Amino acid sequence: MTATAVDRAALGRLLDAERARFRETHSRSAAAYAEGRRHLFGGVPMTWMNMAAGRFPLYLAGAQGARVTDIDGHQYADFALGDTGAMAGHSPAPVTAAIRRRAQELGGLTAMMPTENAAWVGAELTRRFGPAQWSFTLTATDANRWAIRLARHVSGRPRILVFAWCYHGSVDESFALPGPGGAAVARDGNVGPPVALDVTTRVVEYNDLDALEEALEHEDVAAVLMEPALTNIGIVLPQPGYLDGVRSLTRAQGTLLINDETHTFSAGPGGATRAWDLEPDIVTIGKAIAGGIPIGAYGLTAELAERIAALEDIDLIDTGGVGGTLAGNALSIDACRAALEEVLTEDAFAGMTARAVRFTEGVQRVIDDTGIPWSVTRLGCRSEYRFAQPAPVNGSESAAAGDADLEDYLHVYMANRGVLITPFHNMALMSPATTDADVDRHTELFEAAVRELLAASS
Ligand code: PMP
Repeated sequence: MTATAVDRAALGRLLDAERARFRETHSRSAAAYAEGRRHLFGGVPMTWMNMAAGRFPLYLAGAQGARVTDIDGHQYADFALGDTGAMAGHSPAPVTAAIRRRAQELGGLTAMMPTENAAWVGAELTRRFGPAQWSFTLTATDANRWAIRLARHVSGRPRILVFAWCYHGSVDESFALPGPGGAAVARDGNVGPPVALDVTTRVVEYNDLDALEEALEHEDVAAVLMEPALTNIGIVLPQPGYLDGVRSLTRAQGTLLINDETHTFSAGPGGATRAWDLEPDIVTIGKAIAGGIPIGAYGLTAELAERIAALEDIDLIDTGGVGGTLAGNALSIDACRAALEEVLTEDAFAGMTARAVRFTEGVQRVIDDTGIPWSVTRLGCRSEYRFAQPAPVNGSESAAAGDADLEDYLHVYMANRGVLITPFHNMALMSPATTDADVDRHTELFEAAVRELLAASS
């Protein structure tokens, strides 16, 4: 049986039954959603919160460590962890202490003034990721935008190269797919691109060095913006030698390399950049590093920082430097120091990675025992299953393996039984507070859901 040979009618019936159970047992969330529709665009504070397998989102009451409680009083083992924003666990004690200290004892949440902790955070990011000079934003999206602006300016080149089915936040250049003849075209549903995508973007498949070489030969690409492994269309790992090839080709063509570590931070304390000994010119990151408080950051190598500083036609203080009024605010920086110094430590990563190994082995055992042709891939403390076997090697293959109904079935099946995985695809992340018991509960539910599906399909 292949994933596409899952009996669709049977899947539909199972999904309907799970959704009915979800609606019955989550009446307060359903009511909150109905109320929200009156004055919230799309009914939710941010439109992606409509990505809800149960047809309406769970409403948060509170969360601690790896546990979330909804307003109907259900508790969940949370593997979504705010799509990485809560990779440090929900409200980790050192971060909440730092927040309390800043808010109550010291005061000064945002004040147009640097704090001493910023230098500590910069030094720590250098120790972990390599680049010597850091600057802060409030989101990873914004860190990517800054990296792109600087790369364009310093290189004098117009285009950015991205990989098919990448995600780097709401960065206009990045919503591209290779169209006829290879030129970039906008992904379906892209919102309000300022210009046609081929004006700003070149796009190739991940793990294809020949395509990259050809695209860079035009000598108009300021920077390659990449996740060292794709994580937003399932996890797609680099093939042996691929990332070395990317670095050699970018160097040869005078193209800067930006590693977006926002999700690949899961690979270890210094992300994939350190785990795999990579040498990007710029690292961008956000989400997890302040333990749940908004932050983004980009780091430049010393050489690149010097090149930028030497430019005479660039103003990084007024015209070209403003934006992100709250960036680098005292609260974000204090929370970031606490998260990096006391929560997302080397030791914590060892435990988180061990949980992810256990998770991955559990899922693999179910795949092997049931013969369902799916695959599971791990990147440090992040694991994800995909409805394809073998595991896809590029974004388009992975996109082709997507199956919205199957995803919804698994998500709502688990939510009905106390486990949350990310609403986007099938991502599961381990925090320092995630336990073996949480992992085993997921494996048990994954097995039960797959076996029910197979039984209903036969
Ligand atoms: N980069 C990557 C790799 C991401 O996965 C995301 C968000 N999923 C972002 C950037 C953007 O993060 P934010 O929405 O917090 O700006």
